[in-house]
Amino acid sequence: MPMSSLPFQLPMRLLGDALDGAVIIDQHSCIRYVNRSMEELTGYTGDELRARSLDILVPPDGGPAHSSKVTQFIVSGRESTVLGHVRQLDILHRTGGRVAVEMKAVDLGTFNGEPYFGAFFADIRQRKQIEARNAELMAMLAEQALSDELTKLPNRRAFEKEAAAAAQRAARSAAPITVGIADVDHFKSINDNYGHAVGDDVLRAVARAITAVARDTDIIARLGGEEFGMLFPHTPVSQASHIAERIRSAVAALRCDVAGVGQIQVTISIGLARLPEHADLDAALHAADVALYAAKGNGRNRVETSRDAS
Ligand code: GH3
Ligand code: MG
Ligand code: MG
Repeated sequence: MPMSSLPFQLPMRLLGDALDGAVIIDQHSCIRYVNRSMEELTGYTGDELRARSLDILVPPDGGPAHSSKVTQFIVSGRESTVLGHVRQLDILHRTGGRVAVEMKAVDLGTFNGEPYFGAFFADIRQRKQIEARNAELMAMLAEQALSDELTKLPNRRAFEKEAAAAAQRAARSAAPITVGIADVDHFKSINDNYGHAVGDDVLRAVARAITAVARDTDIIARLGGEEFGMLFPHTPVSQASHIAERIRSAVAALRCDVAGVGQIQVTISIGLARLPEHADLDAALHAADVALYAAKGNGRNRVETSRDAS
């Protein structure tokens, strides 16, 4: 049995119920057709939209009105940058708010000498929201990956990254860099005597004291446990040892309140080493660690510099 030709109204009915908004305009940007999704998207009824200019759905952006762009396009005969392409934009809701949509505009051709254009509008508000939330989460994760949860200082990974960048800058200007490691003295006994929570408070207080004394250009990080990394750009070891000495004495001057106990004191030992040009950070940190070991051996609460730091 031959198939009867499809009644031409059927695609129209289908379009009427499409998930995406659909609009047809004439050469004057006058709206000639909207489907139900377009009503929902804009807050207007079909009757309110039909015979109105498409301009009422275009947010003011300071540019020429949409209607004049359409006229210009028809007159110019140039290839359209809009037609046939999918682009993201905002349309204006009846309430004045903006609705993020993805639009595909289509050249519908000329009928009875009149050109017509159509467009589909997909609501992408939810997608936009998810994208924004994802971007926020990614930024948060990136920050967390580089920051120490307890002290909010940069962590070891961030320290390594920043040290590498500082070393590169220094190599260009042949400026000296000093690296250091500060380690809390007898920290285990603070934990043992007052509990881990007090130990955490002490670490936070030490972190604050170190950063308060360090210069803005110095990089202070928590390397792990009760160890802090320090990087002094543009600073020879002899000068860095003065800053380290001030840091040591600021920590020694701290009085940490412990409930039921009173104030406790804490000290740090610091080892310093030069970060030679083109040398890797690990080697310099190792040298600083050797100096730190010497500071511990020499009675703690002191600053020692690496012997090959001259
Ligand atoms: P030294 O003067 O030789 O450095 O002795 P120390 O007791 O400070 O060194 P040790 O390495 O024996 O102890 C370090 C302690 O730090 C052991 C560990 O449980 C504790 N610690 C590491 N990370 C944390 C932390 O995040 N919070 C707390 N409260 N303690 C920590
Ligand atoms: Mg330690
Ligand atoms: Mg220690």
